[in-house]
Amino acid sequence: MMTHVQLYIDGQWRDGASGKTLDFWNPVNGEVIGTVAKAEQSDLEEAVAAAERAFRSWRSVSAYDRSALLRKAAGILRSRLDEVATLLVREEGKPLAEAKGEVAASADIIEWFAEEGRRTYGRLIPARAETVQQLVVREPVGPVAAFSPWNFPVAQAVRKIAAALACGCTIILKGPEETPACCAALVQAFAAAGLPKGTLALVYGVPAEISQYLIPHPAIRKVSFTGSTAVGKQLASLAGLHMKRVTMELGGHAPAIVFDDADIAKAVDRLGAFKYRNAGQVCGAPTRFLVQERVYDAFLEGFVAYAQAIKVGDGMEPDTRMGPLANPRRVDASLAFVEDAVKKGARLACGGARIGNRGNFFQPTVLADVPVDANVMNQEPFAPIAIVNRFSEAEDALAEANRLQYGLASYVFTESHARAQIASAGIEAGMVSINHAGLGLVETPFGGVKDSGYGSEGGLEAMEPYLVSKFVTHARI
Ligand code: NAD
Repeated sequence: MMTHVQLYIDGQWRDGASGKTLDFWNPVNGEVIGTVAKAEQSDLEEAVAAAERAFRSWRSVSAYDRSALLRKAAGILRSRLDEVATLLVREEGKPLAEAKGEVAASADIIEWFAEEGRRTYGRLIPARAETVQQLVVREPVGPVAAFSPWNFPVAQAVRKIAAALACGCTIILKGPEETPACCAALVQAFAAAGLPKGTLALVYGVPAEISQYLIPHPAIRKVSFTGSTAVGKQLASLAGLHMKRVTMELGGHAPAIVFDDADIAKAVDRLGAFKYRNAGQVCGAPTRFLVQERVYDAFLEGFVAYAQAIKVGDGMEPDTRMGPLANPRRVDASLAFVEDAVKKGARLACGGARIGNRGNFFQPTVLADVPVDANVMNQEPFAPIAIVNRFSEAEDALAEANRLQYGLASYVFTESHARAQIASAGIEAGMVSINHAGLGLVETPFGGVKDSGYGSEGGLEAMEPYLVSKFVTHARI
């Protein structure tokens, strides 16, 4: 069954001006399963003009009415959960249960932002004269250009869309070309809820052409990007050149410090689940497991057993716990990481190879005692590869945790309150999760420091970038 995904511009689903399309594939077997319309510059011009027009009225719709409309979209998405989750499995590969979880969480995200949009309070500042009133008014920043990736095609897109719309901004989203149908299904839920035309647009095409056009465009007031650090730096530079506000949710290489007083069985289960979720293609996935000497062997043995027990297969099969990688690039990258690490002296504790010769299946992999010069110790693997290394003193673990320029998620396992405090204070990361993997809830901040980017896509902090403060001082005559 072939799917054709169209662009959504000015309230219309339509093909690009040139009629050109791009193919996308099922990662289970590499077969083309659909085509997506490719936007040309004239399509983008229309999208920007519509977003600019729509902003004039959307900004004045009351927060109460905007909230009602967003909640309606959440309800529609929830009612289509099975259908959207199936699209997601077909084009991205994750197991159906994970896909359903992503769509359900996306509906929750819309609702949370819908409610939070009603609380974008300003303030009243006491004046120095009785006849003066001083106000700080929160206003939407303007039309937004957003870029969302393929690993969570619904959940990453919805954080940007819901936050922007809830704050009164209009938004043009460049969706992921490799997983376009589920992202389009998300946009359809907003359209079906009655969102005014031009308020939300969805485009696909050549990513660099789209960002080069949208970011400098004078009508665009804010840019939000989720993806690799390399691309994020290019887009942030372009945005800086044109004085655009930016949120950057980029790569990570999360350390997971396991102290010798930790509950090892719990550490293995909780970190194992987070490591291999979405086949490791998660920016906040634990990657460098730093385990204290005394419990190193027990942790490694447990973690290898965990990895080997994972049933890898087609995400539509009910017993599959890990699907294929989303694209062949990730398989090639995974093989290269393993080969390089082993060549430099790492022990391959399990996995390390492609499964079969059809689709993008890769074994859950554990590398032990990996030298610091191995590529996988320095570049984000974005793959089901865990590195299990040892440390003796807490300061050694912290030094290793902070060695890289990444600073997104981090994990600590210990029964000691003091160790937990020292580690969480010492780690240079946007998020620290202690004794569980508790990151990514919409009501909590989600973002990084250093090369992992800036800004947040969760919690109250996620509203800020879509709002500007206007100071109004009013003297009575
Ligand atoms: P990539 O760097 O080519 O692309 C990453 C994302 O950026 C994609 O969604 C792509 O469409 C978009 N992109 C690329 N060039 C762009 C441009 N000039 N303008 C606008 N958007 C652009 O890499 P990839 O092979 O797709 O993914 C591999 C790496 O990307 C991973 O190793 C990981 O570091 C990173 N990544 C991170 C996240 C995240 O959640 N932070 C998500 C997906 C990918």
